[in-house]
Amino acid sequence: MPTLRKATHQQTRLINQQLVLRSLYDQTAVSRADVARLTGLTRTTVSDVVEALLEAGLVEELGPGQSTGGKAPILLRVPDDARHLIGIDVGDSQLTGAVVNLRGEIRRRVEAPLDGRDGEMALGRLDGLIEELVEPGAAPILGIGIGTPGLVDTTTGTVRWAVNLDWRDLHLGERLRERWSIPVHVANDSHAAALGEHTFGGHPPGESMVVVKVGRGIGAGIVIGGQLYAGEGSGAGEIGHSAIADNARPCRCGSVGCLETVASSRAVVQRARELAPHATESSLRMAAQEGGLDFDDLVRAFTDGDDLAREVVQDAARHLGRTIGGLIGTLSIHRVVLVGEMTRFGEPWLGAVRREAHRSALAMLADATTIEIGRLGDDLVVLGAAALLMTRELGLALTR
Ligand SMILES: [Zn+2]
Repeated sequence: MPTLRKATHQQTRLINQQLVLRSLYDQTAVSRADVARLTGLTRTTVSDVVEALLEAGLVEELGPGQSTGGKAPILLRVPDDARHLIGIDVGDSQLTGAVVNLRGEIRRRVEAPLDGRDGEMALGRLDGLIEELVEPGAAPILGIGIGTPGLVDTTTGTVRWAVNLDWRDLHLGERLRERWSIPVHVANDSHAAALGEHTFGGHPPGESMVVVKVGRGIGAGIVIGGQLYAGEGSGAGEIGHSAIADNARPCRCGSVGCLETVASSRAVVQRARELAPHATESSLRMAAQEGGLDFDDLVRAFTDGDDLAREVVQDAARHLGRTIGGLIGTLSIHRVVLVGEMTRFGEPWLGAVRREAHRSALAMLADATTIEIGRLGDDLVVLGAAALLMTRELGLALTR
């Protein structure tokens, strides 16, 4: 049975430290007396905590501010580069890593290709990437945040199953913590994308939203009241492998008819390859005959108004829309943000997703919901992973 106990001295210290740090981080320059007022802590406690933060280099003194009669107080602030965060996106075809400062500004960015399902090789590339990002002589590194596809236990940093890389029960967090001796936090890539969008997408601070990442895989991240909802076992938003299509298409997860088999970028390319040889009018026929029809070809044909491309993409959008309609009914969250490479099909795709989501949700709930394409670019997961790290380690919500 859980017991209610007074916080230990150490816990109180940590809570006070996070309170003080947050009040300093949120202001441009404040005195110790201001911090005491803002946090409700005593002047003595604030002075002690600030002393420790100064020593750790997380806070600096700016010099005297305006005097209100007596001796002018010394102003304090958190330097933007007091710590650097490493954010990593384990993408479909490449690893992207960045060094990010405490304001979400990217200081360095490195990429490495990932090919196929070779999980061991991916781990090797990951080590190489981190090595490139850790720069001797630069600001101290707070830790590493990683967004990876698959089912991830965020409390331990264990990847329970990532289909694309064939990672099963991989203790990724533990492995990297041992190797680099710094904190490591691992989250599902759609969860990291949701944190990134929530933090940097220009949304009101406490807004709830569902971010659906639609690329070669499909997953959703749910932010409720400003907090990421990972779900029991961290599997919240794993919508890509819900069997919703009336087909018997085998999915890479071993099941059939999953959403990913009809609505992902991998699925539309595959469908176009199947149909193109029979479509006399389509520009995709040539590409398919040459054996090369890829996602870029499909985007180009779709933009040019090719009928086959339209049919394939609209069908994918309809399946996605139906699933999103289900999410709207389940969660009653008023903002759904779509990210990932399928958003390259733009407004016509978005329109079809919206129509089907509306059709399959309760009208009153659907009317109150905005479905839009995310405004942030390719660094969404990298920034989200950095935001996760900073919240977990310093109790700060990354801003820029
Ligand atoms: Zn599946």
